[in-house]
Amino acid sequence: MRRLPAFAALALAAAAPAMAQRDLSAVEVKVEKIAPGVAVLFGAGGNIGLSYGADGNIIVDDQYAPMSDRILAAVATVDPDPVRFVVNTHWHGDHTGGNEAMGKRGAVILAHRNVRTRMSSEQFIAALGDKVPTSPAGALPVVTFEDGVTLHLNGDTLHVVHVANAHTDGDSLVHWQKANVLHMGDTFFHRASFPFLDLSSGGSIDGLIAAADKGLAWSNEATRIIPGHGPVASKAELAAYRAMLVDLRAKVAAGIAARQSLAQIQAAKPAAAYGMSEGFIKPDQFVAFVHESLTRPKPAHRH
Ligand SMILES: [Zn+2]
Repeated sequence: MRRLPAFAALALAAAAPAMAQRDLSAVEVKVEKIAPGVAVLFGAGGNIGLSYGADGNIIVDDQYAPMSDRILAAVATVDPDPVRFVVNTHWHGDHTGGNEAMGKRGAVILAHRNVRTRMSSEQFIAALGDKVPTSPAGALPVVTFEDGVTLHLNGDTLHVVHVANAHTDGDSLVHWQKANVLHMGDTFFHRASFPFLDLSSGGSIDGLIAAADKGLAWSNEATRIIPGHGPVASKAELAAYRAMLVDLRAKVAAGIAARQSLAQIQAAKPAAAYGMSEGFIKPDQFVAFVHESLTRPKPAHRH
């Protein structure tokens, strides 16, 4: 496997909301311009998409609260205008931690309704043993949507579209129609780690595959795809990720059909061929996520 640039490895290491307490003081925010009017910011936590131009700045996700000043400084190197809108791809603290600071400076925060709902009360992420306190009122999205919302700014059309029960129950993808850029949030972990399937937050393997399908449907060979964690990807790389999800789902489902236990399914090492043994989510852990997703009772639809 190709070695990751240091900053990408760092972003992955910070993928867990549980790691919010780690020392972020030395983390630098790197800016990569990927299309006319679109950049990606890499720091600690989820990758930030930036739309810039005549109408001001729109950011997709905002990492951790202690990163806010560095994120704003990095945005200012691209475009000195204020941040007008923040879109949260989902509720996790490594994607929404900067909300309060951005809101205080006048940004309007948008997200799927379930993002606001989950941030409005204490959450427990069982897979990480992570109890997440209720977010401050100023951090909550002020505009929520069901299926999606469209922003007409900077000469482009940004489609923010909800995908059901994927990484969580509040995921959105963001598609820049003209610039041909797609932000997948944490429905896509690119290289270095298996994806985190947050079953406590309504995630599911079938929803994760459906999110990848939606992303692929919006993409062509020239599309730049921003994953929640890891470097910018191509359509072929998203397709390879989708194929991995489908392969592992099939292998786990076959084990369940053959009445194997989770331990027996894991013992066959179905995920080993994909490497990434040192990632934030280990191969056996991802197999356990898929197994739980396929065997637990269907979660009630959240309203
Ligand atoms: Zn996440």
